[in-house]
Amino acid sequence: MANDGLQHTATDLEERGGLALPPAAELRGRFCIQPHPNPTPETEWKQVMSELKFGTRFSDHMAVATWTSGTGWHDRQVRPFGPIELSPAAAVLHYGQEVFEGLKAYRHADGSVWTFRPAFNAARFNASARRMGLPELPVEDFVGSIVSVVQADERFVPRDPGTSLYLRPFMFASEPFLGVRPAREITYMMIASPVGPYFANGLAPVSIWVTRKYHRAGPGGTGAAKTGGNYASSLLPQEVAAERGFDQVCFLDAATNSNLEELGGMNVFIVRSDGRVQTPRLTGTILEGGTRSAIIRMLRDHGTPVTEETIAIDRLIADIATGDVVEMFACGTAAVVTPIGHLASDDFDVKLPQTEFTQTVYDRLVSIQNGLAPDPYGWTYRIV
Ligand SMILES: *Cc1c(COP(=O)(O)O)cnc(C)c1O
Repeated sequence: MANDGLQHTATDLEERGGLALPPAAELRGRFCIQPHPNPTPETEWKQVMSELKFGTRFSDHMAVATWTSGTGWHDRQVRPFGPIELSPAAAVLHYGQEVFEGLKAYRHADGSVWTFRPAFNAARFNASARRMGLPELPVEDFVGSIVSVVQADERFVPRDPGTSLYLRPFMFASEPFLGVRPAREITYMMIASPVGPYFANGLAPVSIWVTRKYHRAGPGGTGAAKTGGNYASSLLPQEVAAERGFDQVCFLDAATNSNLEELGGMNVFIVRSDGRVQTPRLTGTILEGGTRSAIIRMLRDHGTPVTEETIAIDRLIADIATGDVVEMFACGTAAVVTPIGHLASDDFDVKLPQTEFTQTVYDRLVSIQNGLAPDPYGWTYRIV
C-alpha cells in the first residue's frame, strides 16, 4: 500500500491508549491507604531531591494488589515502601513470569502534577501480561495505583527541568510452586523514584555497538512484551559493548541478522537528508514504545513524513557514509530522546554529526509533557 508517511493509522495500543480515563479524584479511592508512620524526614528528603540519579531512591509509599485464580484482583493497598515477603519457591524467581511498565509524573510550573498517556501504558501492560500468561489488570487499577501513590508522595515529584517522578508498575508470579504452568497467585506493585536526566550529559550523543552475535528477541518470542527476560538477555551484549567503549548495544532481527531493531530499552529513528524520517516497523519482535508512538504522531502532524519500514543495516551504513542519512536518535520514557553520534560493529564504524532535528523532537515532546506547550492529543493526565 502506498504510504506518503503522513497518514496515521492507530495501532491497537494507540487506540486503547486513547480511551478517556475517569479523573484522578474518581480513581484514588480504589486503593486503601495505609500512611507511612515515619515518612522521610525533611533534611533527608532535601538531600534525596537535591542529588537525583536514576532509580536509586524511592518515595515513601508503594501500591500492592493480589490476584488469585477464581477470586481475581483483591487487597488493593497503598502502604509504606519496603521489603516484601516472598516464598523462595515463588514462580517468578524460577521461571521469570513477570511484566513491567515505566512512565513518569511531571511537575508543571503552576505546581500541578501530571502523567503522560497512562492508558497507553495500561494497555501495553495488559498486552505484555497476556503474552506472559499473567492476568490483566483493570485500567482503573493501573492508573488508580499511580494516582494513589503520587498523591501520597507528592513532595517526591521534583521541580527542575529534566526531572520527574519515575513510576514503575510491575506484576509477577508470587505463587510458591515449582511446576511449570501460569501461576495462580500474582502480585501487582507500583513503586516511584524521583529521577534526574537518564544520561548524565543531557543531549550529548551516545555511541552504539551493533551486535551481530546476540539477539534480544526472535519471531514468535516475547520481544513485544515488556518483560524482565528481554532485559536479562540484553545484559551480556550490553557488557560486551561497554567493554569496547560503547554506551549502548543495538540489536538486529534474529531471523536474518540484517535488519535494525532497537536498543535494549529504546526504539530508534533515522533522519534522511531530504527530511524524511524512518523507524523500524513493528514486527512482533520490537517493543512498541509510547515515546516512539508520540514522536511519529507529532512529526506527521508537523508535515514530516515518517515511515515504518524494514531497515537493512548494510544499506543504512552506506547511506550514512554518503550523507543520505544525517541523524539518528533513540527514544524511550526514561531517557526521552538521545542522539546517536557513533554506530559501529565488527565490519563498520561510522559517525553521525548533526543533532538539530533530534533536539527539535526532544523540545516538542518535553514541552507537552511539562505543560509548556498545548497538548492537542489529550496525552497529559492530571494527578494533583
Ligand atoms: C520500554 C521499552 C522501550 C521504550 O518504550 P517507551 O514507552 O517509549 O518508554 C523501547 N524498547 C524496549 C525494549 C522497552 O522495553
